[in-house]
Amino acid sequence: MSNAKPTIVQTWAPVAEQMMEVAKTTFEILRGYRFDDSSPLAAASSPLATAMRAEIIAVGRKLWERQYVDANAGNISVRLGQKYLLCTPTMVSKRDMEPADICLSDLEGNILAGDRPRTSEILLHMEIYRGNPQAQAVVHCHPPAASAFAMTGTTPPGGLISEVEASIGPVAVAPYETPGTRAFAETVRPFVRDHNTILLSNHGIVCWADTVSHAEWLVETYETYCKTYLLAQQLGRPLSYIPDNKIEEILEIKRRLGLPDARLADRG
Ligand SMILES: [Zn+2]
Repeated sequence: MSNAKPTIVQTWAPVAEQMMEVAKTTFEILRGYRFDDSSPLAAASSPLATAMRAEIIAVGRKLWERQYVDANAGNISVRLGQKYLLCTPTMVSKRDMEPADICLSDLEGNILAGDRPRTSEILLHMEIYRGNPQAQAVVHCHPPAASAFAMTGTTPPGGLISEVEASIGPVAVAPYETPGTRAFAETVRPFVRDHNTILLSNHGIVCWADTVSHAEWLVETYETYCKTYLLAQQLGRPLSYIPDNKIEEILEIKRRLGLPDARLADRG
């Protein structure tokens, strides 16, 4: 009888691994699926679109719970193939979104599926997708500490927290324009190629990444950095910066991985 347990372990481990492999492969196939020839209805009802809607809703709740979005503020989008976007609706709290609320849009911002009008900031999102093919998902919101810096048109200095250097690097500040307008969307154009995180003057923050969750991580990372910098200033002691040669080590990793960083762009 003492042999039974190892036998079960040996049987289950490969099955679990195989299931993981099948799940991974299925996800890869779904991500790589080309929607170019699909009708909007087929794209909107695909398993990938269903999974992305669930991710948008989960990230919207996180933004609201972390107090990064008040009232109906903030917006989220993700690319669905070459022709389509899924995005949040206008006039709905990010806490209360349901799958039917998520809009399917083309790259001109025309709504193709969904029960509600799309976010008014779709132009901002499309400007980012046009400006950088690496951008697959965009999150815009109003986290208090980052927005406080956006009121001043400045950012905290860099070189103080390794995580920020690795995942974000220098943050751009886009000039003020009236939200929802084409002029507003165009304010980020000079920055989207080399910055995954941009402060919007007198407004908030926008981040892009490969997924909605990762774009939200950038928001969290930068908001925490802004708060931590403000706390460090209260200590009345000089700030200790990461040495230049250690910053270089981080930049070398980012260069190898193809991650955006304005300091790498400056070197051509
Ligand atoms: Zn906003």
